[in-house]
Amino acid sequence: MGVDKDGMVLVAGGGGFIGGHLVGRLLADGVRHVRAVDIKPTDDWYQCWPESENLCLDLREKDAAFAATAGAATALNLACDMGGMGFIAAHKARCMLSSLINTHLLMGAQAQGAGRYLFASSACVYAEDRQLSTEARRLREDDVYPAMPEDGYGWEKLFGERMCRHFHEDFGLPVRVVRLHNVFGPRGTYDGGREKAPAAICRKVIAARQSGRHEIEIWGDGKQSRSFLYIDDAIEGLMRLLAADHHEPINLGSERAISIDGVVGIVEAIAGITLTRHYNLDAPQGVRGRASDNTLLRQVTGWEPEISLEDGLAKTYAWIDEQMTA
Ligand code: NAD
Repeated sequence: MGVDKDGMVLVAGGGGFIGGHLVGRLLADGVRHVRAVDIKPTDDWYQCWPESENLCLDLREKDAAFAATAGAATALNLACDMGGMGFIAAHKARCMLSSLINTHLLMGAQAQGAGRYLFASSACVYAEDRQLSTEARRLREDDVYPAMPEDGYGWEKLFGERMCRHFHEDFGLPVRVVRLHNVFGPRGTYDGGREKAPAAICRKVIAARQSGRHEIEIWGDGKQSRSFLYIDDAIEGLMRLLAADHHEPINLGSERAISIDGVVGIVEAIAGITLTRHYNLDAPQGVRGRASDNTLLRQVTGWEPEISLEDGLAKTYAWIDEQMTA
């Protein structure tokens, strides 16, 4: 395991989707002191573990970031003001302000002499001109430059990556920079405007089933493609990358590209219904096609994601169904 079980582990963004699952995994692995920090009040956290120290702080503030990293042997930065395409297309300045979170956490971790710092980067750093076809290209780590990332959110992530690189080179901070590709699963956002495609599609299909109006609105023409990583694989990959000795940015995603129409088809099959599809061509839809190239991930960890999209969507659908029925 990449973290010192006796040292304190900070999970910034611990009230969020991936952060909440990560806190659970660290506790299950026997880490004695996990500190979860989020800007949201703890009542709004997806998972608030009683065994962790749970703090509500705005990590854009330097003092708050230094308080969060105080005593941390390992600092994991999963905190970011972000969401799916609908959110990042409409809130570019807010997305970019998250660079304050990473900057101040890096400074805090370095001041502490932390043994590990992990930054959750994103597939949105990849150059848009490599993603123009619905025949999704598997993006390799060097497809980032020359830089032309997603406007706003992608630039924030790319800047965060460079900050990590230079804290490593100049100050010797042991960093991990992980480019996550579309993570989905239970205990994450499925409504309210920040949700991503798999959760939004599950919610819409469940709403159609519940109401008996068998129709669905799909953003874009449905042909745009992505690859999707189930949360358990994301957590396993993050733990393996923490343990590995690799400080350059690395992909953590699925290599299987599928169109949004294809995802709708899988969720329809789970629900046992067929819907009339209405395509909203004015809605934000991002690049035309992307998937992860996991060659480097396999080399560095000897592992790759294992859970099928069908299995992951079935679990996600069941959890969202439970929330919408409760
Ligand atoms: P999430 O929104 O569920 O979690 C992020 C958490 O950060 C939220 O709980 C939010 O309240 C918190 N946060 C925001 N601003 C903060 C602040 N100023 N101070 C403290 N906490 C703050 O998102 P997630 O899906 O769990 O993503 C976690 C990380 O992984 C993010 O950095 C995200 O950019 C990255 N990522 C996620 C995906 C994905 O598909 N989920 C893909 C690529 C990258």
